[in-house]
Amino acid sequence: MKPSDHLKDRAARARKIIEAPQNFKVCEGCESIVTTRVVTCPNCHGYRFDESPERVIAQANLLASRPQQSVTSEDLE
Ligand SMILES: [Zn+2]
Repeated sequence: MKPSDHLKDRAARARKIIEAPQNFKVCEGCESIVTTRVVTCPNCHGYRFDESPERVIAQANLLASRPQQSVTSEDLE
């Protein structure tokens, strides 16, 4: 995938999250946005989440504006 496609993909995902924040929550451990269906975070295996729509929207905007700083396994070490 080209970097520009990746960027577009992130913006599209962020938009989807902002349109339906009730379907998402923010991991307190690594600040990933995950769907409310997950019990533990797929990234850091944390189980504490902030489910407030305000926090989800703020985090989605933050991630969309920082395309270079995706969370990789290296970031977690
Ligand atoms: Zn996490």
